[in-house]
Amino acid sequence: MTMKGKTCIVTGASRGIGKAIALRFAEAGAAVAAAATNDTLLRELCAAIESKGGKALPIVLDVAQLSSVEKAFDEIHAKLGSIDVLVNNAGVTRDNIILRMKEDEWDKVLQVNLKGCFNCTKAATKFMLKQRSGRIINISSISGIVGTAGQANYSAAKAGVIALTKTTAREYASRGILVNAIAPGFINTDMTASIDEGMKAKYLEGIPLKRFGEPADIAGVALFLAGEQAGYITGQTIVVDGGMVML
Ligand code: NAP
Repeated sequence: MTMKGKTCIVTGASRGIGKAIALRFAEAGAAVAAAATNDTLLRELCAAIESKGGKALPIVLDVAQLSSVEKAFDEIHAKLGSIDVLVNNAGVTRDNIILRMKEDEWDKVLQVNLKGCFNCTKAATKFMLKQRSGRIINISSISGIVGTAGQANYSAAKAGVIALTKTTAREYASRGILVNAIAPGFINTDMTASIDEGMKAKYLEGIPLKRFGEPADIAGVALFLAGEQAGYITGQTIVVDGGMVML
């Protein structure tokens, strides 16, 4: 699948799933704007892409701040010429049971995971509307479908991302902008690294494919959703979890 001539923004590209998506898109020929808060990691990633002949732009932004996002997206558009694909991947966790969850833990997760997705969608569609084309891929989670104990903030934000995906898909379909979500299951990244071994073994029992996912498992699906073959899919959530949740 080729992404030659396409410009893609990937948020949360400094590590984990976002980094794998940025690398996969660059490999397919896209110019990639890699966005996150960690400048050093972004520069390393972009240097690695450019050393293989690709085009990449490191962008420091906080997805939770609309002004930071709008400024960054204006810069990306000016430097790369278009915004064809947006992958809303940046995310954080602040796990706690509801009884102990602090207000700032709730607020932080909603601001980054849900408001961040809205902010980036708003800033990117400004350009996509004029182009009359675009793809938006939102990274949700199976927690947003089934709910996870200890993650009220995260599950609510990720359920919100699914609803935002459907709303955005409806609002922009007539302008050629297709919007879909991916709901990963348990993927090996920094986000899941600190989960204790006993809990991991329990999760594994519930995965029919009997392995945890890798960031590349998500990157392949993101590339499919960004490409021509997905031209008749919008408003959908694709679960990528080794069979953990079957709808
Ligand atoms: P990760 O390794 O912790 O990476 C999270 C990324 O988000 C980092 O690049 C981080 O960059 C960025 N980020 C965090 N806050 C940000 C902010 N305010 N502004 C911009 N960037 C920000 O996590 P991951 O596992 O790759 O997760 C990626 C996405 O997949 C998240 O939305 C997550 O909820 C979702 N997901 C993950 C799993 C899993 O099992 N791993 C399962 C389901 C869904 P900096 O540190 O540079 O800011």
